[in-house]
Amino acid sequence: MGWTSNDLRIEMMNAEAAEAAVEAIKNYAIANASKYEALNMANLMNDLSVDGMAVVLDDSYSMHCAEYLEFVPEICKLVAEIGTFTGSAFMTSGYGDEGNFEFSCDGDTINLKSVYYPMGFCEYLCCEECGEDVVLFEEYEEGKIYICPDCGEEIDLSEAYEEHKPEINEIVIKIK
Ligand SMILES: [Zn+2]
Repeated sequence: MGWTSNDLRIEMMNAEAAEAAVEAIKNYAIANASKYEALNMANLMNDLSVDGMAVVLDDSYSMHCAEYLEFVPEICKLVAEIGTFTGSAFMTSGYGDEGNFEFSCDGDTINLKSVYYPMGFCEYLCCEECGEDVVLFEEYEEGKIYICPDCGEEIDLSEAYEEHKPEINEIVIKIK
């Protein structure tokens, strides 16, 4: 436990906008440090940078997934005040959970989609009888009957899937 990684890439319309966005995100993080309990401020300040016309956070040890799920929409609202953008983000934590984001802003509206996997997306659904890995979470099809490759049992994975399935959130924020 303890290993966390946050990645982020926001493509802006020019380098000046990217610089301004980095500045705004840093100011937001400083002003809201108490809100993000596990935020490793020094790492975020060091790692957040401008790459051409993009804001970049590359494999930063900054936040746990639950915090990043709140942080990314907040910074999208900030960056929308600066200009239009498209971007994506990725997060993983030492608890085994993982997730990713796709987002964009056209000047009127922010569209943001997050997919959060409480058990991580490389996780397998296993046979209840013998514990064998049966199918990857990402490849699971609802309603399909699976046969365990090891013991040959016909198994219903729907309950296990329901328990650990990804949480998908799509948000549309009007900014004008
Ligand atoms: Zn089995």
